[in-house]
Amino acid sequence: MDSTRLRKDPVTHRWVVISPDRAELPLPGLPARPAGLPPEACPFCPGNEAKTGPEIHVERAPGSPANGRGWWVRVVADRYPILHIEGGLEKSAEGMYDSMNAIGAHEILVETPEHDRHWAFLEVLQIERVLRACQQRSLDLRNDVRFRHFIWVKNHGLATSLVHHPHSHIVVIPFVPRAIEEELKGFGDYARWKERCILCDMVKEEQSLGLRVILKEGGVLVFAPFAPRFPYESWIVPTAHAHDFGATPPGILRELARALQGTLLRLRQVLDDPPYSLVLHASPLGEFAREDYHWHLELVPRLQRLGLEWGTGIYINPVPPEVAAERLREAPA
Ligand SMILES: [Zn+2]
Ligand SMILES: [Zn+2]
Ligand SMILES: [Zn+2]
Repeated sequence: MDSTRLRKDPVTHRWVVISPDRAELPLPGLPARPAGLPPEACPFCPGNEAKTGPEIHVERAPGSPANGRGWWVRVVADRYPILHIEGGLEKSAEGMYDSMNAIGAHEILVETPEHDRHWAFLEVLQIERVLRACQQRSLDLRNDVRFRHFIWVKNHGLATSLVHHPHSHIVVIPFVPRAIEEELKGFGDYARWKERCILCDMVKEEQSLGLRVILKEGGVLVFAPFAPRFPYESWIVPTAHAHDFGATPPGILRELARALQGTLLRLRQVLDDPPYSLVLHASPLGEFAREDYHWHLELVPRLQRLGLEWGTGIYINPVPPEVAAERLREAPA
């Protein structure tokens, strides 16, 4: 395990270079991000509700006024949406080139009233509220037949936003993203060959081997995948087969909240509060839903890249997943 190996991800068949020979550089995070808006100017702080559009979804203390203080989580429309909710798809072709209208929804999930509270230090109850809000939005947005896919992305510590207040993005789009298409193909091929789900099989395999397991909370397993693209990449997976995140029962949402808190605390210990992205991978919606898919979250620390990845799609990872999992598993949390 000390020499460089090529490893193939069983779902996507993507090869990655696991290269522990490369001096394990200290893996610095991305350059420091600029200072964010202070709480007085922050559109997501309590008291500043008028700086955003009206609440699309909210969990708030009983009796507190809509669009005022007293909320725990709230969802509002993004002020600078990349997609617009009105209009038809209007697909068109120019010769061999296809295009369509940029319709979709782009919403912001404000995850806590507290401006400086890191996710790793949110209470489990609060993380559960965030996950529940995400689930509720997915159930509502799927009613629009123009949309094929629901995305939830949380970025932490990246220089992409002036607003540092904890929030995540909810996006629905009229196409299935490429990363999900690749996984769908992998799930489909494996199911045709073995008549089983590949992620269910991976969950069993990882639990029996143990060396890449980071933690388990009830029906949710967190492990470092066999062929991770990035150092300390982890997958957070319900152990029972389920394609539809919208149908997740409350008990699993609670275990998921615990699993996320445990993983983020450990990541913070091991890598000194790195920037990261957390992304939901779920089945497409409506008639495009695929019961052979198995939903999961992918957590990727955003450490500096080594140079070859851009443009080639070849990933070089200096930290073998067995090493990453051991460090995370044993970190104090
Ligand atoms: Zn704020
Ligand atoms: Zn499965
Ligand atoms: Zn995935």
